[in-house]
Amino acid sequence: MSNEPVHILGAGLSGLAAAAYLANAGREVHVHEIRSDSGARFDGDFQGIENWTSGSDFFDEMREWGFNPDEFKSDAFDVIDLVHPDDEITQPRTSGVAFRVVERGTAEHCIDQGFKQMALNAGAEIHYDTRREPEDCQIVAAGPKESSAVAFGEIFHTSHPNHVTFQLNDKLAPGAYSYLIIIDGIGLICTCLWRQQKKTSRYLNETIAWYEQHYDLNRKPIKRVGGKGDFSLPDKYVHEGRYYVGEAGGLQDFMWGFGMRYAVTSGVLAARAVLGECDYESEVRKRLVPLVRASAINRFMMNRVGNRGFKMVANHWMRDQRRKGDGLAFMRWMYKPGLIRRMLWPMVRLGMLRRKQLADGRMVSRMPFRKALSRDSWEPSVRGEKIAEQWDLVRRGGGKTSFDKSDA
Ligand SMILES: Cc1cc2nc3c(=O)[nH]c(=O)nc-3n(C[C@H](O)[C@H](O)[C@H](O)COP(=O)(O)OP(=O)(O)OC[C@H]3O[C@@H](n4cnc5c(N)ncnc54)[C@H](O)[C@@H]3O)c2cc1C
Repeated sequence: MSNEPVHILGAGLSGLAAAAYLANAGREVHVHEIRSDSGARFDGDFQGIENWTSGSDFFDEMREWGFNPDEFKSDAFDVIDLVHPDDEITQPRTSGVAFRVVERGTAEHCIDQGFKQMALNAGAEIHYDTRREPEDCQIVAAGPKESSAVAFGEIFHTSHPNHVTFQLNDKLAPGAYSYLIIIDGIGLICTCLWRQQKKTSRYLNETIAWYEQHYDLNRKPIKRVGGKGDFSLPDKYVHEGRYYVGEAGGLQDFMWGFGMRYAVTSGVLAARAVLGECDYESEVRKRLVPLVRASAINRFMMNRVGNRGFKMVANHWMRDQRRKGDGLAFMRWMYKPGLIRRMLWPMVRLGMLRRKQLADGRMVSRMPFRKALSRDSWEPSVRGEKIAEQWDLVRRGGGKTSFDKSDA
């Protein structure tokens, strides 16, 4: 095994997980990050780390890898409000931890800063505001490049207690879902657009109006945030000797966009491969690709239905909970390959994914950002327009939008 320094491109979750693991094993590690800090791609957004794609609790896995989840703030949830497309609200619940909410950004308690601290404590060197060629790095962890979907949200002060709502709604979130997360007096309402739209703020305003009607939020807007997801399956995860991890390697969840667990796991697998402890290509294919494929098949089906299909999903989820006594069982089932999903795979490849050669020569099958449908144009409601006016006032008073439109 060589003792050469290891160079990693990108100080996000996947790059920092790889860096911390390698430095803990005694290797000299340099992480090169184009932005001025870890987490700067985000701006205080809440995100959920899921606990359903594997039988083990993700925090236990992290501890086994030598990471300390207490380095960042997290809040565990065992129940959510599930909003059906016809506004019925039901509650999937489990007896353990379904997911944990963490904050993304540059504040000390954010998960990005927690991983940065773990990498630094282990002895890794992180070079911020640095440009380096991927060809000069063994691990490429540079996050998403293109957009297959975008999310757009508002962060606000609220008097509502901690809470998570997940809403399946093809009008407010074309092809996808919206969510409300409240942690310690700060709320986030976010809508995800799986079809490309003009005037994205229209969808967010209407979504906020919906939540205000159904929850006692006492909402005081602070800022608007957002980001993109890049959904593609590369032919290979090791290319010209470089390990591609996290979203740079297409390791992202096509169904809901829950990419954090894949990012950390793939970072660890790449680090172990550099240390000669495993073969990255085959470990990723064994552990992560089946999940990504199952999520792509689910996404293919979601793309084919509207609110009627979403209602069937929500009903099925609740029936499954009544039968099994566990709301998480449905989410676990969604990621099981199964015979039907396997049979659908050739259709998904042909019908949803497009072959593309990336600038670095890698071939990928990627999900393009879908075009808008005629049902995506509708007149804003009076409440939606009021929310737009309210945001305009906040914006003029200094409220920032950190989602650069060029990102989309
Ligand atoms: C709005 C939104 C909500 C989301 N919600 C969830 C959620 O609830 N749960 C979940 O699990 N996932 C969620 N995700 C997805 C999750 O954030 C990503 O999958 C995860 O952060 C990917 O980690 P990564 O290490 O691959 O990329 P990142 O964490 O983005 O890190 C990539 C890093 O590389 C840097 N970089 C980029 N290019 C270069 C370059 N040329 N040179 C050097 N550095 C470079 C970037 O600045 C960045 O710091 C969400 C994403 C978005 C946008």
